Amino acid sequence: MHLSELLSLRSIPAAGVSVGVTRRCPLKCAHCSTNSTMASEQAPGELFLRFVDTFRPDSRPEVLSMSGGEALLRPELVRELAERARRAGARSSVLSGLFFATASRIPPAIREAIAAVDHFSVSIDAYHEQQVPRPDVFRVLGQLLADGVDLSVHVVGQDAGDPYIEGIVGDIRREFGDRVPMLVNAVSAFGRARTWLRRISRTAPAVVEANPCAMAAWPVVGFDGTIVACGNDDVLDDVPPHLRLGHAASDDWAAIEARTLASGMVRALRLFGPEYMAARYGDGRLGCDGYCATCMKLSGDAPLVERIDLTMAKPSTAVLEAQATALQWRAGALAFARRHGVPRYAELALLGAPA
Ligand code: SF4
Repeated sequence: MHLSELLSLRSIPAAGVSVGVTRRCPLKCAHCSTNSTMASEQAPGELFLRFVDTFRPDSRPEVLSMSGGEALLRPELVRELAERARRAGARSSVLSGLFFATASRIPPAIREAIAAVDHFSVSIDAYHEQQVPRPDVFRVLGQLLADGVDLSVHVVGQDAGDPYIEGIVGDIRREFGDRVPMLVNAVSAFGRARTWLRRISRTAPAVVEANPCAMAAWPVVGFDGTIVACGNDDVLDDVPPHLRLGHAASDDWAAIEARTLASGMVRALRLFGPEYMAARYGDGRLGCDGYCATCMKLSGDAPLVERIDLTMAKPSTAVLEAQATALQWRAGALAFARRHGVPRYAELALLGAPA
């Protein structure tokens, strides 16, 4: 499964589900969005297996997307989840920081886990490289490409002008040609990066336009099994009511999919985005907190929730939603990479894509 196919599904409501199989990680990256350490929490694997066992051929996500922490600290669990998802017809992916790359060979259990998924993503950035040297990462990538693994690299830099990005992209292309698609992002002020990343001070705009949140498309199973409506890692630390969808210990995929598609607040986030919702349906004042911080406060405003529910219940809104989803689907992977990554590098997501 090519990166471009994954990205083109990313804006489609309930087309996938993300699962954080562990919060633990042996690396200590300064920008870690999940604040992971080796002492971080880790739920029993049975919790995630139970949830994936509720996938059915006629009721399942297209993609099970696994990450951490470092997901490959639990290679047997990753393999088992991928195999059980496949039995129901779902494909899978896993993201890793390649903590094992300095070993002379890929540990067999990890190699089996990578072989079991349909797409393998590797994180590379200046923080990872302080702990996992580039030559070791390239050696592992070369071995996996020789094995026929469909893989991609997720590069993080400071911004579009960061020379680190240009350097690593150039090195990957020199080493592997067009065989390794890349998604390039700028570091965000989440998790550990919150303590040092300079925040851009904002003033509230005079007119707030709709700015849909594509991150509210796929449900996310958190490290403790809590299921939320979006992939902002900070949400899992203090889940606002409008983003809570359920729990892997008690809910099945059919219920989570239904809530993802039916919740008025989550639908409105996908259609309008949080700042437009606050400005249009709240008390008219918009703070300067930022996109996700505005979202986190929305369900504290009961009249806003009531007005949103009334708007989302209108048949005309459903027509608008269907058109917006169709537009995002047609715009595809490139539009997603431009909007959610560094636009200058968006086309790298299509390297090696099937014609
Ligand atoms: S706007 Fe809300 S739903 Fe979207 S990513 Fe931020 S916190 Fe999550």
